[in-house]
Amino acid sequence: MDKRFKLLFPHAEIQKRIDSIAAQMTKDLEGKNPLFIAVLNGAFMFAADLMKAVQFPCEITFVKMSSYRGMESCGKVQNLIGLDRDIEDRHIVIIEDIVDSGLSMKTLINYLQDFKPASLRIACCTYKPAALKCPLSLDYVGFEVENLFLVGYGLDYDGYGRNFEDIYVLAEQPGQEN
Ligand code: 5GP
Ligand code: MG
Repeated sequence: MDKRFKLLFPHAEIQKRIDSIAAQMTKDLEGKNPLFIAVLNGAFMFAADLMKAVQFPCEITFVKMSSYRGMESCGKVQNLIGLDRDIEDRHIVIIEDIVDSGLSMKTLINYLQDFKPASLRIACCTYKPAALKCPLSLDYVGFEVENLFLVGYGLDYDGYGRNFEDIYVLAEQPGQEN
């Protein structure tokens, strides 16, 4: 990697947040047979840890909608692929790695709402409130972060770093010189 990153959230801290989100989900969703929809690629690690923490019967499936190249969100959202379940009357929880502009989440919600789910919730590992470009209500948020570029725990920098168990922040943000 040609950039320097510094540790932001060690895995133990992430796990703590996941455990408290899972406890909240138990209150909200136990007995409702929810279907979790994890957004690939970035959410794979958050989804795996969250699913291990959730102790009630539930299902999970995976979709893909990519809108990010390098370090700038281009705002162009590609088609959704991989939705393989009937979601009508189901309680849905979208699992996302990070909400930045919120545009991809908004697009996904609009798409899923057409299929008339019983309810639609969003769980995201990280959220950048200052970057949000459209109104969005987030039900479960791991960490609110500044408008900085993050890597690790599913988040990549040009394909690398998804395998890190901790979350890192780019040491020098674009336009900043050291
Ligand atoms: P949006 O701008 O639509 O909310 O974000 C779309 C996608 O961009 C996210 O799901 C994530 O995959 C990617 N993204 C947004 N911010 C970051 C970031 O700080 N680091 C990385 N690696 N990806 C990001
Ligand atoms: Mg994503």
